[in-house]
Amino acid sequence: MTAQVGNDKAAWLKGPGVDCADPGEVPVRAWRLILLGAPGIGKGTQAALIEKRLGACALSTGDVFRHAKRNADCCLSPVMAEAMEAMRKGELVSDNTVIAMVRERSRCLVCSHGFLLDGFPRTVEQAHAVETMLQELGEKLDAVLSFELDREKVIARLSGRRTCSGCGKSWHVVSAPTKTEGICDACGGKLIQREDDRPEAIAVRLRAYEESTSPLKDFYEQRGLLRVIDADGSPDEVFAKAMEALGV
Ligand code: AMP
Repeated sequence: MTAQVGNDKAAWLKGPGVDCADPGEVPVRAWRLILLGAPGIGKGTQAALIEKRLGACALSTGDVFRHAKRNADCCLSPVMAEAMEAMRKGELVSDNTVIAMVRERSRCLVCSHGFLLDGFPRTVEQAHAVETMLQELGEKLDAVLSFELDREKVIARLSGRRTCSGCGKSWHVVSAPTKTEGICDACGGKLIQREDDRPEAIAVRLRAYEESTSPLKDFYEQRGLLRVIDADGSPDEVFAKAMEALGV
């Protein structure tokens, strides 16, 4: 889940025909980055920190699905309903659905603010699709940051994560507890454990990452774009390593 920093990301979250309310100041350089890393590794936290520093919009495909779920008045389209079911179980949504969803939002890939893709691509097919989209749009990636951490530490981070049902902010029962248990410090909302952060779904998500997403490291290594970041340490420490890898 990516935090909002001066930009409501409406064009990304709501899709075609909707503009961002306040895109904010255009940064001097528009960075175009992809963030890779197992679920729970802290990509969302890093995305928010990088967004704040570089001004690029953090774009999460998981956020688009969660937004669609929260805002479905009564009925989701069959494709979205299928996506929600996959998400609930921790499985990947089909490539066709995710690629079509990103293609519909491809103007976010040419935004003058740049972008940080968080959670997309997750398969080699999606990586080929984003490569084609960027070629068509005349844009190039600057780098792909791959955050890496031992499996046991990833499981501990994921299973202790709690998410605010009001503002979406992430907390952790051990490493980032709220002052009052179960209540968000930022907005007073109730904290929940995401369905896909439950133990049964965590195992499925980690398997999906290892089988489908880690091959992307080779894909981007071959293109000279991969930067591996050790994700052990506090969010600020990991962020400093990411900035160093980008030469910022
Ligand atoms: P995330 O917040 O990125 O962990 O995404 C939450 C869930 O949304 C994932 O477990 C998948 O079910 C689905 N999802 C998000 N992005 C993708 C993607 N690029 N490919 C397939 N499924 C995705």
